[in-house]
Amino acid sequence: MNVDSIQNGIVIDHIRAGSAMKLYELLHLGDLDAPVAIMKNVTSKKLGKKDIIKIDAELSVDLAVIGYVDPEATVNIIKDGELVEKRKIGMPELLTNVLFCKNPRCVTSTEQELPHVFKLTDRERRVYRCIYCETAAGK
Ligand code: ZN
Repeated sequence: MNVDSIQNGIVIDHIRAGSAMKLYELLHLGDLDAPVAIMKNVTSKKLGKKDIIKIDAELSVDLAVIGYVDPEATVNIIKDGELVEKRKIGMPELLTNVLFCKNPRCVTSTEQELPHVFKLTDRERRVYRCIYCETAAGK
C-alpha cells in the first residue's frame, strides 16, 4: 500500500497526537481485512503534532466514533484517487454500541439485546451518560 495515494478509502486527518490508537480500537480497525496505515506524531502547522489514519478500502465507519474520540478530526473520503468529501464530525449527541455501561445494576447488564446508548450530557467537559441508568462513561 502506498500511504500517500489511496484509490478508494478514508483518511482521518488532524487527529490529536496520541489519539490514533484509541480510534483504531473503537473503530475495530484491527478486524478489517484491508490495509490500514497509522501515522503518529506527524508535524502539523495547525496542531504542532497530529496523528493520521488511512484506510484503503471502501467501507462505512461509524463517524460518531471519530467525533467522540476527537471532534476536531477531519474525515476525507477518497474515490478513484480523488478527494470527494471532507468533513468534520463534531461531538456526537448519541453513541450507540461504542461505549458499554459498567454499572452491574443497569438494565443493559440483564437485557443483553438492548443497545448500549450513551448521550452527551455535558458538552464542555465531554461527559457521556448511559441513557438507562445515567452512569457516566469512563474515560
Ligand atoms: Zn447503564
